[in-house]
Amino acid sequence: MTLPIIAYGDPVLRKKGTDIDKNYPELDDLITNMWETMYKANGVGLAAPQIGLAIRLFVIDTSPFAEDEDFSPEEQAMLKDFKKVFINAQMIEEEGKNWSFNEGCLSIPDIREDVSRKDTITIQYLDEDFNEKTETYDGLLARVIQHEYDHIEGVLFTDKLSSLKRRLLKGKLNNISKGNIVVEYKMRFPAVKKMR
Ligand SMILES: [Zn+2]
Repeated sequence: MTLPIIAYGDPVLRKKGTDIDKNYPELDDLITNMWETMYKANGVGLAAPQIGLAIRLFVIDTSPFAEDEDFSPEEQAMLKDFKKVFINAQMIEEEGKNWSFNEGCLSIPDIREDVSRKDTITIQYLDEDFNEKTETYDGLLARVIQHEYDHIEGVLFTDKLSSLKRRLLKGKLNNISKGNIVVEYKMRFPAVKKMR
């Protein structure tokens, strides 16, 4: 089942997510629905706050980037096979050089901006079977994880832009909150008045 994606401006996108345990209600179905919702919207990642749940859960499948010739053959191979569920993730370390990459977000359609982030991360999380993992990533994989991890911390990529850039985007962001935008996938807009 595809779920509506929560648009910019909804307070749920600003909440710090809480940990979940194995008894979280219908977790398998929730994860299945998140995959379906993400693929339908042509995304490479989706975090639970984006479907209205302030919990520490996100999913990533970077295979669409595998065709991108901006990346080395080794990196393409990694991107092709990277499909993971992250539960209760905690960022252990971010290090290395800052680099910029043009990011977008399913909750902020039609806005893409260069975002600067550190190159290498170490993250601790539980996989979908609740096995504990600690892994280190760099390059685009680190980038996608950082973007999704920010969501469970209540942070959006637009927060990382200069104040000038954010000022310039204000009108566009307001229009997204109001639903004044054409989107190919189902969304829920915070500032749309309910019709009576
Ligand atoms: Zn996002």
